[in-house]
Amino acid sequence: MLKRRAVFGGTFDPIHRGHVAAATEVRDRLGLGDFRFLPAGDPPHRSGAFAAPRHRLAMLELALAPYPGFTIDQRELRREGPSWMSVTLDSLRRDHPDDALLLVLGQDAANGLAGWHQWRRISDLAHLVIMSRPGERPDYPPALASEIERRSTDDASTLGRSPAGRVMFVPVTPREISSTEIRACVGDPHALRRLVAAPVADYIETHGLYQTRAPARRSEPPDL
Ligand code: ATP
Ligand code: MG
Repeated sequence: MLKRRAVFGGTFDPIHRGHVAAATEVRDRLGLGDFRFLPAGDPPHRSGAFAAPRHRLAMLELALAPYPGFTIDQRELRREGPSWMSVTLDSLRRDHPDDALLLVLGQDAANGLAGWHQWRRISDLAHLVIMSRPGERPDYPPALASEIERRSTDDASTLGRSPAGRVMFVPVTPREISSTEIRACVGDPHALRRLVAAPVADYIETHGLYQTRAPARRSEPPDL
């Protein structure tokens, strides 16, 4: 069995309870020792500017502090230019040439994968672990659907037998939480604390984040 290393990419603007809970379920289900949150530095598809990278990182650190099994991989924040996932996976592969790499993503992100830079290479560089997300059904364009079907497995141990190339769907408990909703409810301390960990809510309030109403982004292309 190869060592398996998972990265969970996202804008995390801000990180919320849904991210942490879904990541915990996937990590436990697959028995992953190395599970990294990977904040995007300069999301290529994103138009509106929300919280600066340093704020998103600070909130990740606060949210993940109680979970020693989760770490933060800062390579996209440190890199100049767009946060292409293929470039990130190339870099991870250089660091860990002999290990299995797992890219963890929610169903909405997976549905948009064919819009990502060099998307066909991505599934050669890592296994894809697709988490269910409320309101999001698998909905792939034909070329992506056939790639996913060809690579699909239900057996978690398969992911440790090769360094990349398989796709596994992992259902997680539905949690209807999105960062978009959080950005829209800043100003309601109670709602905010229901959606993000208390130290993250405190940080948002202290730094006056998300005060200008941000446009909804759920229906736009993926952030990575
Ligand atoms: P936004 O509304 O700004 O897009 P978001 O809540 O979708 O924010 P992202 O940072 O875009 O958060 O998501 C990072 C990853 O986490 C994506 O792969 C996304 O599908 C997944 N994800 C986010 N929220 C959930 C959730 N509640 N359940 C399962 N997966 C989720
Ligand atoms: Mg999103």
